[in-house]
Amino acid sequence: MKNIGLHLISFLLLCMVTSDSNSQTQVSPQLTGPDFHSYANVADVRVKHIDLDWQVLFAQKVLKGTAILTVERVSRNTRAPLILDTKNLNVEKVETSVNGRTYRPGKFTLATEDKILGSALTILLPVGATRVRIHYATRPNASGVQWLDPSQTSGKKTPFMFTQSQAIHARSWIPLQDTPSVRVTYNARVRTAPNLLAVMSAANDPNTPRDGDYSFAMSQPIPSYLIALAVGDLSFKPLSQRTGVYAEPSVVDRAAQEFSDTEKMVQATERLYGPYRWERYDMLVLPPSFPFGGMENPRLTFLTPTIIAGDKSLVSLVAHELAHSWSGNLVTNATWRDFWLNEGFTVYLERRIQEAVYGKPRANMEAALGLRDLQDELGRLEDRDEILHVDLKGRDPDDGFTDVPYEKGALFLLHLEQTFGRERFDQFLRSYFDHFAFKSITTEEFLSYLKANLLDKHPDLAAKVPIDEWINNAGTPASAPKPSSPAFAQVELLAQRWQRGEVPVAQIPVTAWSTQEWLHFLKSLPEKLDQKKMAELDQAFKLTQSGNSEIAFQWLMMSLQNAYEPAFQRVEDFLSTIGRRKFIKPLYEELAKSPEGRAFAMKIYRRARPTYHPIAVATIDEVLKWNG
Ligand SMILES: [Zn+2]
Repeated sequence: MKNIGLHLISFLLLCMVTSDSNSQTQVSPQLTGPDFHSYANVADVRVKHIDLDWQVLFAQKVLKGTAILTVERVSRNTRAPLILDTKNLNVEKVETSVNGRTYRPGKFTLATEDKILGSALTILLPVGATRVRIHYATRPNASGVQWLDPSQTSGKKTPFMFTQSQAIHARSWIPLQDTPSVRVTYNARVRTAPNLLAVMSAANDPNTPRDGDYSFAMSQPIPSYLIALAVGDLSFKPLSQRTGVYAEPSVVDRAAQEFSDTEKMVQATERLYGPYRWERYDMLVLPPSFPFGGMENPRLTFLTPTIIAGDKSLVSLVAHELAHSWSGNLVTNATWRDFWLNEGFTVYLERRIQEAVYGKPRANMEAALGLRDLQDELGRLEDRDEILHVDLKGRDPDDGFTDVPYEKGALFLLHLEQTFGRERFDQFLRSYFDHFAFKSITTEEFLSYLKANLLDKHPDLAAKVPIDEWINNAGTPASAPKPSSPAFAQVELLAQRWQRGEVPVAQIPVTAWSTQEWLHFLKSLPEKLDQKKMAELDQAFKLTQSGNSEIAFQWLMMSLQNAYEPAFQRVEDFLSTIGRRKFIKPLYEELAKSPEGRAFAMKIYRRARPTYHPIAVATIDEVLKWNG
């Protein structure tokens, strides 16, 4: 893989241009793997550290500045250039430095853009060069940056911006080796309006003076998809000595209330899997257009406000993002086909944290809901997408974000836990996190570690888990665990009896129900319910007006499936104010099934589209076959 091919290199040298002209070549470097989502020639040159310096230009929706990459040759190929990933960047000039102080004009080419991967930026590296400085600006439609007008924030007075780098969107705002197999440390200086605060996935000082000039240092090496920035009118509220929450001033108190168990969660995870290695654990609550539930940006988890339910019922998401501080941020997937190493482990850890903090019944409910989601998903997916070690070559890695890496991955680990016993499996996991700390690994590396440290030590037990089937086959093995919850069994029975008319709605004992029981109740009802039944539920439990985003979403899905008109206005309001992909994608898909539904969807989408994140826009454009 280190041979890009000599004639390709000489061709690149021939068409190198001086830094003040910005020419394009038709040639993209060959993708040689194992990461088929990056052009970076990491077998020859590795970036070790990045110094960033930006101005945040809200009026133009642009980040403008420089990235200084500290590079190291790792092969004997001293003529190898530095190949970086970029997407939709304006590269103004490139300079190189041997001593790290004085810079000379450098030569670079920018390849024609590939729709998924962007444009390779190839920079000629003089002998002895240790640093490369790139002067560049992002474009307003960068896929990894969302710019919000004041009207899209809670405060309505100041603009807001935030980044989302996973999976391969870091390249749309930083020129770098955008592969999770490379880890870097970074420093950054961010200049913006003095009334705004910038925060990053780095050391943030909650007491920093608000002067519009902020500096950050990330001293632990992290993969590119964890570099993150947000700028807005943010307040901070501490939750404990080392945890706290950033949010818009009108949201921060509610958020602090909702997330008050965070320190308990950190301690529970430390007891299970070893020390928290990132010093502070803070959270940032974003405006509602954030396309995901959460993003595990190290030291500063980004969260959707839709999990603030008022009763801590949706904080499994905090447990999830926190768990990534071990599974994912500490031990990372080397390529996106190994994504299940991040997410399967994290869902498994999330449930263990839930169990430690909220008790076994709640963890059981979450696991049972997870299994149900997985079964639904397996019913929809093609075989090739049901495989943990999924082949994503030539595809957008965002295609791999299904329940499979999450729930099937977690189920596999649960199978190991149940087979080898919790004590042994906990020891194994703890040593796994220590062994691979701050490394990025492949599925093969995990499997050989598993073999040496668990399977070979207990061959009789190992024979009971069909490892290869778990990793390489579609579906789940027949011997897979089937998590269940006694509380759910009761809820199911009630759902059936109510639906058959044996129990009146007033006698359903909902007052003590958790969100999880509510969700299970709704999901246990048949897909087709008549208008009378829908109205009966709605009148009794005010479901159309539910302030709990998960319950509201489930109810609105049922309302669309059953053409329950009294909920249609809420569907419109919901889709117009929330951009979380987990919710909006299924709703639009359901609407798109009928001509009237599709027309309704197009009407909503026309107005909502400019308020959604570029990642959500890409998804919904496809659902609705949008062409402007
Ligand atoms: Zn996750």
